[in-house]
Amino acid sequence: MSETVQQKIETLRETLHQHNYHYYILDQPIISDFEFDEMLKELQTLEQQYPEFWDANSPTQRVGGGITKNFPTVQHQFRMYSLDNSYDYDDLEDWEKRIQKTIEEPVEFVAELKYDGASISILYENGILKEAVTRGDGFQGDEITTNVRTISDIPLKLKGDTPERFFMRGEIYLTRKNFDKINAAREEEGLDPFMNPRNTASGSLKMQDSGEVRKRGLSAVLYQFVGEELPAESHWELLQKSKDWGFKTSAQAKLCKSLNEVKAFISYWETERHQLPFEIDGIVLKVNSLKQQRLLGYTAKSPRWAMAYKFKAEKVETELQSVSYQVGRTGAITPVANLKPVLLAGTIVKRASLHNEDIIKKLDLHNNDFVYVEKGGEIIPKIVGVNTEKRMPESTAIQYISHCPECGTELMKVEDQAIHFCPNELHCPPQVVGKMIHYVSRKALNIENLGQETIEQLYREKLIENPADFYTLTKEQLLPLERMAEKSAQNIISGIEKSKDIPFEKVLFGIGIKHVGETVAKKLVKNFPSIDELKTATIEELCQVEDIGGKIAISIRDFFANPENLLMIERLKSYGVQLEKQDTHTEVLSNALEGKTFLFTGKLSLFTREQAEDMVEKHGGKNISAVSKNLNYLVVGEKAGSKLKKAQAIGTIIILDEQQFLEMVGE
Ligand code: AMP
Ligand code: ZN
Repeated sequence: MSETVQQKIETLRETLHQHNYHYYILDQPIISDFEFDEMLKELQTLEQQYPEFWDANSPTQRVGGGITKNFPTVQHQFRMYSLDNSYDYDDLEDWEKRIQKTIEEPVEFVAELKYDGASISILYENGILKEAVTRGDGFQGDEITTNVRTISDIPLKLKGDTPERFFMRGEIYLTRKNFDKINAAREEEGLDPFMNPRNTASGSLKMQDSGEVRKRGLSAVLYQFVGEELPAESHWELLQKSKDWGFKTSAQAKLCKSLNEVKAFISYWETERHQLPFEIDGIVLKVNSLKQQRLLGYTAKSPRWAMAYKFKAEKVETELQSVSYQVGRTGAITPVANLKPVLLAGTIVKRASLHNEDIIKKLDLHNNDFVYVEKGGEIIPKIVGVNTEKRMPESTAIQYISHCPECGTELMKVEDQAIHFCPNELHCPPQVVGKMIHYVSRKALNIENLGQETIEQLYREKLIENPADFYTLTKEQLLPLERMAEKSAQNIISGIEKSKDIPFEKVLFGIGIKHVGETVAKKLVKNFPSIDELKTATIEELCQVEDIGGKIAISIRDFFANPENLLMIERLKSYGVQLEKQDTHTEVLSNALEGKTFLFTGKLSLFTREQAEDMVEKHGGKNISAVSKNLNYLVVGEKAGSKLKKAQAIGTIIILDEQQFLEMVGE
């Protein structure tokens, strides 16, 4: 019986691998998405029923779900070198001359796109993906296998006769389309957008939850076979073989018989690159013959047989029409240059970020200046200089605004930061709206169906001004809004109702006290299980909570010192929103430690810090985070340092080792 189940599972896996290959690598699916999903579901069910046949490389593992807390460091068996850079054809000719000093025969080159992402090295053994490691410093990187398995472009199992053990190198990147999608979703949640696809791709690879990695929609291209033995004579042949084994290689790579062909390739892609669905920052050239590669060898940093050709950041001149100032959700002001529309890197540019006052001063920007605009790796172009020759003698320097363009409040500047902000947190329209968007976001009160647009409309209609107002909304008030159907209105109302069950720590995060993020909110709730306790806590008491410093404590105090905030809290309470921790489900084991405070320091070996703190609570004691007169017991593990010294200096603190602590709680 189980023999046939195993066979069934294996056949399904094999078939699904085949279809993945047709879909992702060849881009020619031979069955419908529906049929594919049905087969995948069948496999998933069987795998759940028969966990003994689990396989890390099963097509079901693509969906992710595995969590990696720490990415282990792995040595690269073959160092991952950098590439030498060149910027013009002269550089390339010099390179060819250097090559010809070692090699007399003609030299062919493979020209490839230089993908702008994160490089990766993947080990395959007997045709199976074993391990994926980031480049790191070139000598060692982080093992991110679980995350890499979720990337559809990367084969889990190869086809045909492959070498027994080898590494495949390539680049993980994000298409422009998926990058925009991620940012649109972030915006919806009130999060800052990511700067560029490259950083987002490499950041995504290091996420703990592989299911989240999957959602990012990463792509991959494989461009370099590395192993003890190379099953070919040339890089070009290796690329062809890699493709036959099921790797997604670059469709644009080209074998060039001479440097002239290389130049043609470069000049073609210099303009055509803007039509690609992903970003490249240049071209990579590799000497084709592997024998020639061996003769050329490496410098301390890079192979002598390869060269990157970097495209110049594109730059155009245009006229500055005005500077406007945007007020962000946190009150931060961003100056934006409005430009005479101009074509740059394939798109029409109308605006450029000026970041802050210092940048405007440094550019010495005047009204109606002609400015140089550049597009580098970042999505938003920037002004890199001024053509002062075209400046009119009567034109005046740009004056930074002194008052908020949205609410008229005088702007403030944080010391040692270049940013201005509007301090009118509770009544400046973008800040008010921002706070409400944050309140409904997924990690806070998670009120689905209530998006940014609806919140903005409700605010304009004066139906809401702070989170407490959500709870008085009626369906009748929602229905007249633009594009609001009966059903969505009903969904919003039930979503708001449901939010009354959201636990206190999320509510605390949601009400948007400055500097109180998700983690801080959790820690606060552990120590102050109700809003009333938090409200009356002193700065000193707040600072005793782990990871809470003066800045956060002061911000909490300021929040509760404001009568408008207190009123909002009282209203939330009256509507039934959770403002205290529900059944503090730390079961009480004894009251042996009642009224006593504890702190753990050094390397603990009998229990983890978390377990220790848990025990303290279960026996009626309290954990505090710093050595002070309020501390009764310091429990020290190995290599205790400054905390122990400080405790000894205070003199009244009892010092225990781990064993003595266990005895105290009778374990
Ligand atoms: P650099 O970081 O400027 O020294 O350039 C080297 C990096 O270029 C490598 O680490 C790869 O991540 C990246 N790269 C992108 N496309 C290619 C390619 N086709 N061949 C080799 N490296 C590439
Ligand atoms: Zn304002």
